[in-house]
Amino acid sequence: MATANFGKIQIGIYVEIKRSDGRIHQAMVTSLNEDNESVTVEWIENGDTKGKEIDLESIFSLNPDLVPDEEIEPSPEIPPPSSSKVNKIVKNRRTVASSIKNDPPPRDNRVVGSARARPSQLPEQSSSAQQNGSVSDISPVQAAKKEFGPPSRRKSNCVKEVEKLQEKREKRRLQQQELREKRAQDVDATNPNYEIMCMIRDFRGSLDYRPLTTADPIDEHRICVCVRKRPLNKKGMTLNELHREWNSEIRHETQMKDLDVITIPSKDVVMVHEPKQKVDLTRYLENQTFRFDYAFDDSAPNEMVYRFTARPLVETIFERGMATCFAYGQTGSGKTHTMGGDFSGKNQDCSKGIYALAARDVFLMLKKPNYKKLELQVYATFFEIYSGKVFDLLNRKTKLRVLEDGKQQVQVVGLQEREVKCVEDVLKLIDIGNSCRTSGQTSANAHSSRSHAVFQIILRRKGKLHGKFSLIDLAGNERGADTSSADRQTRLEGAEINKSLLALKECIRALGRNKPHTPFRASKLTQVLRDSFIGENSRTCMIATISPGMASCENTLNTLRYANRVKELTVDPTAAGDVRPIMHHPPSQIDDLETQWGVGSSPQRDDLKLLCEQNEEEVSPQLFTFHEAVSQMVEMEEQVVEDHRAVFQESIRWIEDEKALLEMTEEVDYDVDSYATQLEAILEQKIDILTELRDKVKSFRAALQEEEQASKQINPKRPRAL
Ligand code: ADP
Ligand code: MG
Repeated sequence: MATANFGKIQIGIYVEIKRSDGRIHQAMVTSLNEDNESVTVEWIENGDTKGKEIDLESIFSLNPDLVPDEEIEPSPEIPPPSSSKVNKIVKNRRTVASSIKNDPPPRDNRVVGSARARPSQLPEQSSSAQQNGSVSDISPVQAAKKEFGPPSRRKSNCVKEVEKLQEKREKRRLQQQELREKRAQDVDATNPNYEIMCMIRDFRGSLDYRPLTTADPIDEHRICVCVRKRPLNKKGMTLNELHREWNSEIRHETQMKDLDVITIPSKDVVMVHEPKQKVDLTRYLENQTFRFDYAFDDSAPNEMVYRFTARPLVETIFERGMATCFAYGQTGSGKTHTMGGDFSGKNQDCSKGIYALAARDVFLMLKKPNYKKLELQVYATFFEIYSGKVFDLLNRKTKLRVLEDGKQQVQVVGLQEREVKCVEDVLKLIDIGNSCRTSGQTSANAHSSRSHAVFQIILRRKGKLHGKFSLIDLAGNERGADTSSADRQTRLEGAEINKSLLALKECIRALGRNKPHTPFRASKLTQVLRDSFIGENSRTCMIATISPGMASCENTLNTLRYANRVKELTVDPTAAGDVRPIMHHPPSQIDDLETQWGVGSSPQRDDLKLLCEQNEEEVSPQLFTFHEAVSQMVEMEEQVVEDHRAVFQESIRWIEDEKALLEMTEEVDYDVDSYATQLEAILEQKIDILTELRDKVKSFRAALQEEEQASKQINPKRPRAL
């Protein structure tokens, strides 16, 4: 008989095993099979005990710490222990199984939405086994028989020793088991979400997992919308806790574990398990399903996300097109991790972000014979849009002006475009920009939650624009709801974020439908990116990032709804899952709007009006009035500051003139007439100019008050986070 070396594997220990669907989880070793060098393991799934025989090799590859030490001599052949012990082991295990089985209360798993996940059998389950309630591949008793064979007649000392060891081990195992059960009870008693956790676990157990793999085809989309779920935070912190941490800079070491309520069962489906309560206080799950072009679960690395999202757009810019890629989601959901790379901790690794991965492929593409002959040059820009203002991240956060010429060409005046020759150059720029972005900030996240960061890779041929790839790490969408804050600065930031995310959605929709007019002027973000939304050869991609935690459930649903709306109105509605009707407003309604809100006309305000009409559901009339007031106020602020600067310059000249005039009076025979005339002229001019400025300031102050009043009228429940 061959002597199998089981290394440190023992009956009763837990080992990692890999299932045929790729899942890895723990299972208990219940027997060691000499004859075919395998072990039998068992685990509990959906309250049932399941078992499987796995060859030693596979066990060792997943559990390297159990591999036998090379130096140790092969142990003498050990006769098997008595079968009564085996029965005891099986019995104990059964107790655990039944205690878990009894835990989940009756539930009501409602599935709403378009794509229902098919509850299906796991590959190992046989249908007959399912019917009689036992779903083991082989029954535990069979397994035991296989391992131990008939009991031996005479026990050697060695056998006795082994039995003693086995007993000790068994005792330890029982103690551990008790501890585990006690802990489970503790959780039950103290964690109100335990019940929900069981429901989600059971629901998942019934799903057929077919996640996205690199073997899946990459489809050509003009507009690609996908979702990425990040893993639960290591610290298990909820968003509120994170906010507290960012705001106070105090590290909360709370180990409170949030619950993962997101499941990504297949390459394009996202499910949200929303805990709900009935009137009789029983809790149930409302499972909502969304479908996108791709769905990435928490195990998908940036490379994988990049492969299906931004990578197909690299070619676009070589083909004289414009490409955009947005990371959209609430703060802490993984936008920066996706776009910029992992910035957590001290060592920033921006080489793994989509900015750098896209740059890498741009340089690779540049070497292809077709493109090499074009002699293209590569440039990069990096800027930030904060509260409707543009700041250059490659030039010490200089504030830049955005101008639009008669041909609607938008220009960011003075934006630094740096030439880059290789990926390292790009990484350096990203580093510079990132440190500039967050310098003087208490926390990177507190600041980035309120601003959009735009990184662009620009191709030029003999100085002329050939193609442009804009990669945008958007402001946290929950900030769009800050419009009713008591603090003006927060309100204005919120208003701009609210507007820009709505406008972005409209611009992408318009791109998909080749609509002639888009409300791009409604926000600085869309105004600056305007040229990327027009033209036959423009493509875009949105990565909606979501947090898995139950605490983020509402924000996550808002993110998914928004992403869903971005795609639903494209030329290919079948690809988007749920399709809702397009909202068309007959002209009379537009007129109504005009009289109702008394909208004046400026290109910005016209676009704002259009935007609000297109988003009636999110934009209440009060919110529209508020946006109007903000617009007006911001326009006036710009004018007042500009005029003040001019008056200031002018007054320097006045001082010189008056000084000369006064010097004139010191002469014995100065011309009194001329003096009086000149002084009067200067004073009149001063009065005129200062009066005008004062009047402007007065109106500006009135606009400030109007904005404050309008903000108080917004129903606090609206708007939701976008
Ligand atoms: P956002 O930019 O949306 O505010 P971050 O990208 O800063 O969010 O992510 C918040 C935290 O979660 C960070 O600590 C980040 O490292 C971590 N994180 C985000 N996405 C992932 C992921 N896919 N894998 C591992 N950690 C992630
Ligand atoms: Mg961020």
